[in-house]
Amino acid sequence: MSETLETTNRIKGNGGRAETPREPKPAAEIRHDWRSDEVLALLTLPLLDLVDQARDMHRRFHADGKVQLASLLSIKTGACPEDCKYCPQSAHYAKSTGLKRETLLDVDEVLAKARLAKDAGATRFCMGAAWREVKDGEAFDSVIEMVRGVRALDMEACVTLGMLTAAQAKRLAEAGLTAYNHNLDTSPEFYGEIITTRTYQDRLDTLAHVRQAGIQVCCGGIIGMGESLEDRARLLETLANLDPHPESVPINALVAVRGTPLEDRPPVDPIDLVRMVAAARILMPTSHVRLSAGRRALSREAQILCFLAGANSIFYGDKLLTTANNDVADDLALIEEAGLSVKAHPSC
Ligand code: SF4
Repeated sequence: MSETLETTNRIKGNGGRAETPREPKPAAEIRHDWRSDEVLALLTLPLLDLVDQARDMHRRFHADGKVQLASLLSIKTGACPEDCKYCPQSAHYAKSTGLKRETLLDVDEVLAKARLAKDAGATRFCMGAAWREVKDGEAFDSVIEMVRGVRALDMEACVTLGMLTAAQAKRLAEAGLTAYNHNLDTSPEFYGEIITTRTYQDRLDTLAHVRQAGIQVCCGGIIGMGESLEDRARLLETLANLDPHPESVPINALVAVRGTPLEDRPPVDPIDLVRMVAAARILMPTSHVRLSAGRRALSREAQILCFLAGANSIFYGDKLLTTANNDVADDLALIEEAGLSVKAHPSC
C-alpha cells in the first residue's frame, strides 16, 4: 500500500480523532558512510527539491513540530590563546576588537542567569568559556558546580570549554552534563585558513572523549568565512559520518565582527543557510539542527524557511556569548506564527 493511501485510510478510519504521528523509519535513512560528492549533490539541488526532501525527513523524525530553546551564557570572556579568525574572544585580536576580558563568573551568578533563562522558557542552558583547553583546578571545579546547579534546576546543561581530556569528560559526565559543544567549524581542508593553533584532529579527539564519557555531542560549523561549496559539503560529510551523529548540530552564519580578520567578509546569503540546514536535516535525521550565530540578520521569512528545511532548535536570549541575538518575545511569536511549539523539558 502506498504511504499516501495508508495515511488516507488511517484518517478515514479514526473517527475524526487526532492522527497519531507517523512512526520514525529509523535504520534505512540513518547513514554514516556519506561521500562528499553525495553531499555536494544535495547542496546543489534545486532549492525546493532540497527543502522537500528535508521536510519529508523532518516529518518522519520530528513529527511533533517542536522547537528546542537553548540559552547561551559566556561564563569566561575573552583572552583566549587560540587564533580562530572569526572570534572576537581571541587574544590575538584583542587590540583591534577592544573586547574586555572577564574572569570566570561566580557559580551563584551563573545559576541566577540559568533560573532567568528557565523562567523565560529555555530548557537547555549552555555555558561557554573562552579557553584553549580545560585545566584541572579551581576554575574547572567551579564549572562542575555550575553543571550540577543547572541540572538541579531540571534544565539540560551544555558547556563549551575548548579541548578536553578523557578524565575531564568523565568528571563532567559524573556532574550530570547533558551535552558538550565543540564545533568542527569548517572542512578539514579549509580549517588551516581559519585556525592555526590547534588541529582538526585535536577537535575530533575531544569529540571522541565526550562521546566515550556518555555525554551528548553538540557539533556544527560556520558558513561565510570564505569557504567553497565543496568545503561546506566536506564539513557536513564529516559531521554525518560521526557515529552516532551529534545530537545537536549548530549551523552558524558568520557574524563578521569588527577587528577580527574576517571583518570584511560579505554577509551570508540566507538561502545558503537554508541549504545547509536542509542538507544537515537529511544527513542527520534525528539530530537537533540549531540556528545559531547569524540568525539576527535573517528576516522572519528566512527563519521560517529554515524551520521548513528542518531546523528545530534555536539559541534563545538577547546575547550569544559576545554578539547580540534576537529578541525573545519576537522568537516566541515567530515560532507560534510558523505553527510550531516550544519543546518542554522531558520531565514536564
Ligand atoms: S577557541 Fe573558542 S573562544 Fe577561543 S578563539 Fe576559538 S572560538 Fe574563540
